[in-house]
Amino acid sequence: MAKDSSMLDGTIASIDGAVRSLGLEDDMRQVLVKPWREIQVGMPVRMDDGNVRVFRGYRSQHNAARGPYKGGIRYHPNADLEHVRALGMLMTWKTALADVPFGGAKGGVSVNPRELSTSELNRLTRRYTMSMHHVLGVNRDIVAPDLGTTAQTMAWIMDAYGSIHGHTPGIVTGKPIELGGSLGRTEAPGRGAAIVGFRAIVDSGSTPDESTIAVQGFGAVGAAAARTMFDAGAKVIAVSDVDGAIINTSGLDIPALEQIVSEGGTVSDFNDSDALDNAALLELDCDVLIPAAIEDVITAQNASKVRARIIVEGANRPVTSAADEILVDANHSIVPDILANAGGVIASYFEWAQNIQVFSWELERVNR
Ligand code: NAD
Repeated sequence: MAKDSSMLDGTIASIDGAVRSLGLEDDMRQVLVKPWREIQVGMPVRMDDGNVRVFRGYRSQHNAARGPYKGGIRYHPNADLEHVRALGMLMTWKTALADVPFGGAKGGVSVNPRELSTSELNRLTRRYTMSMHHVLGVNRDIVAPDLGTTAQTMAWIMDAYGSIHGHTPGIVTGKPIELGGSLGRTEAPGRGAAIVGFRAIVDSGSTPDESTIAVQGFGAVGAAAARTMFDAGAKVIAVSDVDGAIINTSGLDIPALEQIVSEGGTVSDFNDSDALDNAALLELDCDVLIPAAIEDVITAQNASKVRARIIVEGANRPVTSAADEILVDANHSIVPDILANAGGVIASYFEWAQNIQVFSWELERVNR
């Protein structure tokens, strides 16, 4: 049976597959598997109780041949240099596929953001920015939200960066609208995942309003994907977050669930549903599965139990290379992350373009 490799090895294996099918020379392969610059920092942060904790922070700038480095920053206990290196490589492919004038990068801090207060997160984010500001820049490297980071995180980065370099909204995308953020940016990766999901549904001979959907993760990407599917008449039967999963085979009321989560609740606080095991969500009998939380959730261990005909990779690399082979052999369709969630970087490009022109677009224009 195929075995799972590390996320970095799996990502390099995907690049090798692409290199083979495109017939690229080895010198090009070397350029594509090696990051151009990487930074790893220790960040002492004063906690609310007066103690100092030292966090590890990372930025992997993979490639800037097509434009400034571009990529999110994640706050997650598993974030490390190998992780952000793999994710930075994916960004290079994603920006190229979407044909936006950026390269690829990714950053991270090894932290569980739920364990920190808002003021601790504020201090950590400012410290990260101070440690990295010399390699960031509106024409050098532009940051965005990712797992565990939000528009608020981007506002802190923009403010800290601006205190050294002057007011620079284009240094981050996915920031609050009031600070120069773009309408539609937060929803864009999930909306895009749903839109390519519709195409996959139609290609399979069905329609969205006949389809049942399960979504893992109800954050920026998962909630917007579920909402876009719901608005198109699809039946979203199950969703999850890190604390648990819920199911209603008649279809969940996604706008009502969004309301609960926006007020600080979890998906398990939603009444009109039954509790479901988090792992069981991935194995549900449904038409489309959208893993939109973290990487490596469909592996060599559970791939053969996945029943959804179509898997749309809302998260980055939720399906390992070994699982990918098992699913493709069993005739499942997989929409890969670099296409499925590229709406995020496309809308980031629009935000950056609006910022450097000091201009803002209507939502309808961004969405179109
Ligand atoms: P987020 O922090 O807003 O949301 C993550 C969600 O996943 C939360 O609901 C969290 O509770 C849930 N979750 C975490 N671990 C889980 C687990 N083990 N089981 C079930 N649920 C779990 O993050 P996000 O921005 O939505 O990012 C999600 C994924 O999408 C990541 O892989 C990220 O790299 C990718 N992505 C994000 C963007 C973006 O612009 N936000 C763009 C492209 C890709």
